[in-house]
Order: sequence, then structure tokens, then C-alpha cells
Amino acid sequence: MAVAEIPPGSTIGILGGGQLGRMTALAAAQLGYRSIVYAPEDHSIAGDVAAGHVSGTYDDIHALGRFAAQVDVITYEFENVPEAAVAVCQQLKPVRPGTKPIHIAQHRLREKEFFRKLGIGTTQYQPIRSAADVAAAQGLPGILKTCTEGYDGKGQIRVADRASLGAAWNKLERRDCILEALVDFTCEISTIVARGLDGSMRCFPIGVNDHRDGILRTTTVPSGLPAGILATAQHFALELARGLDLVGLVALEMFVTKDGRVLANEMAPRPHNSGHWTIDACATSQFEQLVRAICGLPLGAVDVLAPSRMLNLIGAEANDWPRYLADPTARLHLYGKAGARPGRKMGHVTFVAPSAT
Ligand code: AMP
Repeated sequence: MAVAEIPPGSTIGILGGGQLGRMTALAAAQLGYRSIVYAPEDHSIAGDVAAGHVSGTYDDIHALGRFAAQVDVITYEFENVPEAAVAVCQQLKPVRPGTKPIHIAQHRLREKEFFRKLGIGTTQYQPIRSAADVAAAQGLPGILKTCTEGYDGKGQIRVADRASLGAAWNKLERRDCILEALVDFTCEISTIVARGLDGSMRCFPIGVNDHRDGILRTTTVPSGLPAGILATAQHFALELARGLDLVGLVALEMFVTKDGRVLANEMAPRPHNSGHWTIDACATSQFEQLVRAICGLPLGAVDVLAPSRMLNLIGAEANDWPRYLADPTARLHLYGKAGARPGRKMGHVTFVAPSAT
């Protein structure tokens, strides 16, 4: 039997100290790996469940070097990790996924162009980088989004016409933006693909996502969508993983239009909130799959074990934890964050076989 490149007993480095890093460290521990977390804070919720924590900013070459010296492989838990930090780590240890996926995911225009190049459908879009671009804009109504640093609905404004486009661009401080045609969708879906060191791939079953105030609210699996739509969405996600030369995970969020088309919205080369259901209702969780992929282990099965619905606990909603503990269909996950600020993801619940809820 082939020996894994990075066998159990080795140490995984995680750039980023949030809940995705925390759940990655938990999955790594289950397979006998240690994790060391790198984050700017002195203390992080990922570090709480890891063997070690190195604090440093993402431009602190010395701290990054100390971190890399202690680990066998490095991954990141958020796509806005500075590319330069990943490049520093890459000189010292394998970083999986590497710089290519974040380089593309950190810029919405680059991302859409990459999708198109791979034959992945998107809504119509155009760059908005100047007053001339505003004056020449077509295909309104639309959504104006900053090319960088937007997430959970931040850095984006709906625009009805050219006048409101100009005002919106001013409000976004005239930064480089992308104007996307508004998609008249029936639902939003996503999937996560894992790609291993040997190029093998597994695509997690597709979930239907509901958002509230730009933040994911629920993910339901199975989706109940027609086979043709699921096949297109899976094909797009697999093409994306291959196109990125990925080793690790990539999540692809998509719209299903009223006329049955699938259009990619955005990607994230890391575990994704819409994949949290896999911890409780899939043969392999997305976090374990990430560990398997980056360590050169065989990828795990992705069969759905039971129908499920994941509900995010945002802000003070996490205070309802006693209710979920009392519900036999609910699996509660709290992230250990201090301070339930509005809009902050504090935990999630997965209702397994939700017909009982
Ligand atoms: P994003 O930050 O790109 O994930 O957008 C957040 C949410 O805004 C999405 O989940 C959609 O609900 C909505 N949205 C984003 N782009 C579009 C679009 N082009 N057309 C319609 N709705 C959109």
C-alpha cells in the first residue's frame, strides 16, 4: 500500500484562526494529526482546539517562518489571506491549495474571467473602473460589487439605472468594481469539490442555500433539483478544481435561473459554510476531506447519510443553544466566540432527517 506523503502523526499548519480553521483542526485531530494555527490575534478559536498557536501579522516574515518550521504542510481557512504570506510559507513548506486559487478568488473580475475561460456560465458583467465605464454601462438593473474585499454581501450595492450606478460607485469610493447583471434566480446552490495530490476528485452533493441580509441562513441537502441541473453544477465545479490545479477544497456558489440555467457566482478555495452539513450527514466531512487532500490520503466517500438542513446561528441566536440541545434531530456546533455581535457567525445547527423538526 502507498505511504501517504504526510501521514497521520504529522502537523498541519492553518493560516487563519476562525471557525473554519477550528473545524479543520478538529477533523485533523480525529485522523491523528496535530494542528498549529497562525493568526494575528494572541488567541483564536481555532487555536483553542489546536496543538499550538503562533501569533503574527500576515506580513511578519519571521513569525511566518517560525510557524512554517513547526509544520509539515500548510493550508488556509480564508481566501483573503495575503498572497505574499502564502508565498513566504511556500518557500518553506508545501501550501495546499497554493497561491493560484487565492490570486483568482481575491478579485471578482479575475474570478469571473477565469470562470468564462473554463466554460463555466456566469451572468453578464462589465468592469467599472472609471466615470467613462459608468457612462457606458449596459445591462441594468444590476449589482455593483467591489473587485476586492467584499464578503457576506458587503461591498455591493443594487443599482436600478445609470444615475444610481454613479451614486453607488461614489459610495464604494470609486474603487475598482464589477457590475453584474441582476440574476432572476429560482434558487442559489453550492457544492464543494476536493482534489487530491494525485488529481483524483470528489464533488460533495449539491445543497440549496438561503441567504438573509447577504449572509448564508440555511443549506438543505438533498436539493431536490432536476438531475440535469445538478449535473451541470457538478461539471462546473469539477472543471474549476481542475483549472485551478487545486490540491484541497474549492466551493462554488451558483444561481439556478428560471429558465433552468446554472450561473456561477463566486468561489472559495477552502471549506465553506454551505458544507457544514457534511460533518453530521455525509460519509466524510468537508474538513476531513481537506485534511485527506492536503496530506495525500485517499479522498473519502461523499454519500449523503441522511437528509439535512444546516441553520447558521448569527449573533444572539446562539443564545438559543438549550433549545437545540433538547432537540434530538439537532446537532449543535458552537464556535466558542466571545461576544455575539449582530451579523457574526457564532455557530450552526444541523437538523438531520429534518422531517422530524
Ligand atoms: P456575493 O457576495 O457575491 O456572494 O453575493 C451575496 C448575495 O447577493 C448572493 O448570495 C445573492 O443572493 C445576491 N447576489 C449576488 N450577485 C447577484 C446577482 N448578480 N444577481 C442576483 N443576486 C445576486
